[in-house]
Amino acid sequence: MTTICYVGLGANLADPERQIDWALQALDRLPASTLEATAPRYRSRAIGPQPQPDYLNTVARLRTALEPLALLRELQALEAARGRVRGVRWGPRPLDLDILLYGDVRLSLPELTIPHPRMAQRNFVLAPLLDLDPQLRLPDGAAIAELLARTGRDGIVRVCFRGTP
Ligand code: AMP
Repeated sequence: MTTICYVGLGANLADPERQIDWALQALDRLPASTLEATAPRYRSRAIGPQPQPDYLNTVARLRTALEPLALLRELQALEAARGRVRGVRWGPRPLDLDILLYGDVRLSLPELTIPHPRMAQRNFVLAPLLDLDPQLRLPDGAAIAELLARTGRDGIVRVCFRGTP
């Protein structure tokens, strides 16, 4: 059985464009998974300790047979491969990968919460999600379009991208 899930990608160090390109190709190569679609990219102001460079963000739609925790471990391995240093909460990082949605699953484990606990407040996640799937809703029925109308689009700019993959 496979599930459609949405992965949030962010990068603000070490050539973010290149990090995102690399991550999308890596997502497509995950075991038992297929990268179905990629949203446009957005430049967003960093949250967390300042100063730090702007982020480049996008969202990928992945069809996977991996269980949520197995998927999390795969994503963390990809972050580690790009030299992510853990420790500074919301500090700068070459690559950040989050599970936003996993089908209609709701999960609350010490290391994994689905839907992602802060996605409803983050316009840099909601905007690319809406581009990808305009009808998308959270498992509780909240429409992504309505959540984005609430946050507004302050601090994010859609950027042209090279279109990979
Ligand atoms: P961050 O520094 O924001 O990338 O947070 C990473 C931590 O969040 C990891 O230790 C994960 O175990 C935890 N986490 C909880 N829920 C999620 C999720 N939906 N996607 C990714 N990481 C998550």
